Amino acid sequence: MNTDSTDNSLSMTNPLLITIDGPAGAGKTTVSRLLAARLGYRYLDSGALYRSVAYSIIADGIDFEDTEALSTHLNRLDLSTRAEQNGFRLLWNKRDITELIRTPEIAMTASVVSARPAIRNFLLAVQREMGKNKSLVCEGRDMGTVIFPDADIKFYLDADPRVRASRRYKEIPQGTAATLEDISRDMLRRDKNDTQRPIAPLKASEDAILIDCTSIDSENVVNQMMDFIASTIQNGSRKLSRTI
Ligand code: C5P
Repeated sequence: MNTDSTDNSLSMTNPLLITIDGPAGAGKTTVSRLLAARLGYRYLDSGALYRSVAYSIIADGIDFEDTEALSTHLNRLDLSTRAEQNGFRLLWNKRDITELIRTPEIAMTASVVSARPAIRNFLLAVQREMGKNKSLVCEGRDMGTVIFPDADIKFYLDADPRVRASRRYKEIPQGTAATLEDISRDMLRRDKNDTQRPIAPLKASEDAILIDCTSIDSENVVNQMMDFIASTIQNGSRKLSRTI
């Protein structure tokens, strides 16, 4: 973890809640982890929570169209997190599923089930609890719009869809039988599900800073974010521009 003194003094005296939203493959995870490490903050990957719920639904053979069955499943769901340096492990029924949720199948199921109001409400409470003491960098689709509308600083990352697909392709576990074309097609379907669902659709909050990550590497994105955070704290106000 980077413990640069300038960064720490910035974050220690000003505990912040920072949201980072955007579509799959925009670079949110790498950037969020780096930013959290620089600030000495905790990191919340809300997509991992949706993936874990999706994993449990598949493993338990739950028909998520059946509202009652879904509600019973959520009431009994034993999902917990264990903090580790720069992130957290996900436990379902005390079993570590952190790596198991990283498959294209789980991603697609997460995208479908995340439109269900029962699941969004269930995870809304979990996420708000995690953000209540600030000093948190959280990433997802609705962090700045729905979960933490009063967040101190909001970013929205996007990138060219071909660049996003190739990033996601490099991240899938070895041995997964999926081509770049499969990943690209699934990603566009997920974009559609996520942006068109009636509840908490993926969109940039009106007060979010937009960053196009197509051709900037993660270190540079984080440097720009750190500059923005420092100037926001120093000026006590946001920059006028919505893009950096
Ligand atoms: O970010 P990740 O690709 O792991 O997210 C998996 C899926 O979880 C997304 O496609 C989206 O449907 C859902 N999700 C969501 N709201 C969030 C985070 C993820 O609906 N805040």
